[in-house]
Amino acid sequence: MNVARTDFPLLAAQPSLVYLDSAATAQKPRAVLDAIRDYYETTNANPHRGAYRLSGAATEAYHGARRDIARFLGAADADALIFTRGTTEALNLLATAWGHAHVHRGDRVVVTRLEHHANFVPWQQLARAVGAEFRICEMTHDGQVDLDQLRLLVTANTRVVAFGHVSNALGTINDVTDIVKIAHTAGAMAFCDGAQGAPHLRVDFDALGVDAYAFSGHKMLGPMGIGGVVARRSLLEATPPYQYGGDMIEYVFDGDTTFNVLPHKFEAGTPNVEGAVGLAAAVRYLDGLGMDAVRAHEVSLTRYALQQLATIDGLHVQGPATAEARSGVVSFTLGDIHPHDLSTMLDVDGVCVRAGHHCAQPLMRALRVNATVRASFYVYNTPADVDALVASLRKAKVRFGAHAG
Ligand code: PMP
Repeated sequence: MNVARTDFPLLAAQPSLVYLDSAATAQKPRAVLDAIRDYYETTNANPHRGAYRLSGAATEAYHGARRDIARFLGAADADALIFTRGTTEALNLLATAWGHAHVHRGDRVVVTRLEHHANFVPWQQLARAVGAEFRICEMTHDGQVDLDQLRLLVTANTRVVAFGHVSNALGTINDVTDIVKIAHTAGAMAFCDGAQGAPHLRVDFDALGVDAYAFSGHKMLGPMGIGGVVARRSLLEATPPYQYGGDMIEYVFDGDTTFNVLPHKFEAGTPNVEGAVGLAAAVRYLDGLGMDAVRAHEVSLTRYALQQLATIDGLHVQGPATAEARSGVVSFTLGDIHPHDLSTMLDVDGVCVRAGHHCAQPLMRALRVNATVRASFYVYNTPADVDALVASLRKAKVRFGAHAG
C-alpha cells in the first residue's frame, strides 16, 4: 500500500516526526479537512429545522454521511446508526439507556480483562446501580480472551457480554464470532467496543452478529467529537431515549412526550454535522485504500516491529506472539525503565509513543505492570518509522544503563 505522507498536512509539515500513537488518535488526511471546510463554505445551516433549501442541504449532508459510514461498517440499516461523540458516549448510551431498562437485580453482566475503561466502568456501574452481578472474563497468557472461561461465566441469567473487537493496550484481535455465539446461546446481548476495530479491520456489522458496535471517528482518520454505534434496530426500538431535547421528540404535551423515530430518538439537540461530514470523507479515503490493504500493511509493519524489538535485550513485548493475532499495536517495557521516562526520551528523537495504563487499569494489574510503552501503526507509517523507534530505544538503553535490563 502506498500512502503519501503529503496526504496528511501535519505529517507533511513535520517531515522528521515519527508518529506512532494512532491508537490514541489518527492524523487527518487533507480530504477530511477539505470536506469540513467545504461543508462550512457551501452548506452550513442547522439541519432538520428549516424549510429553506440551505437547511435541506445541511440535513442531506448529515444523513448522507450517516449512509456512507453505515455502508463502510457493513450495516444495511443506516437509521440504526446513532451518532455520538465517540465510543465512550456510545457505550454509556448502551449501558445507561438499554442497561437500566433491561438489566435487573440478580442478572449477570460480563466483561473481559482486556477492556478499555470505556467498556468496563459503564457496565460495572450499571451492575452496582441495579444490583446485578459483574463478572470479568480473564485472558490467556498471550493476551487472548479465555473463551473456555467465558463459556462458564455466561450463564442463563447473563444479560450482557461486553467486549472489545481489538484491545487498545495489547492489540489482541478478539474472535467476535465465537464471543457472539457464547453470548447468544445464553440469551445475552453481545456489545462490541469497535474503537480499535473499525479503523484497522474490515467490519461487516450485519455478518458479525453483534447486537451493537461502537466506534470513534478520530481513530479512523476522521475528526474528534464524532463516532457512534450501529445496532440492531429492534434493540434500539426497545431502548428508551438517552438524552431529551430538540429533534428527538414527536409530540410534547404538558404532562408527557412521545419520541421521534430512529435515528432521531437518540440524537437530541443540534448534531455534529461537520464531524459526520468529516468522518464520511475519512471512510471514503479508507475505502479508496481498501481495508484489506490497510490490514496487510499493518500486519507487515507489526511483524517487522516485533522482529526488530526482539533484538533489544531486556525489552519485553506484551500480548499475542504473532503479528497476525494483533492489530498494529505493540506494547512493551524495557528493563525497569519507567515507561513515562522512556517515552520522554523517545520524544527527544521525534518519536511519539504513548506510555501509561492505556485506560486499562484492570488489565495492567493482571499483567503486573503499572504501565507500558505503546507504539501503534496506521496507514501512513513505514518500516523507517520502526527503524527510528528501535534506534531511539537503543540510545535510551545506553542512557539508562543498568535499568535497561
Ligand atoms: N475503547 C477503546 C478500545 C479505545 O481504544 C478507546 C480510545 N482510547 C475508547 C474505547 C474510547 O474512545 P473515545 O475516547 O474516542 O470515546
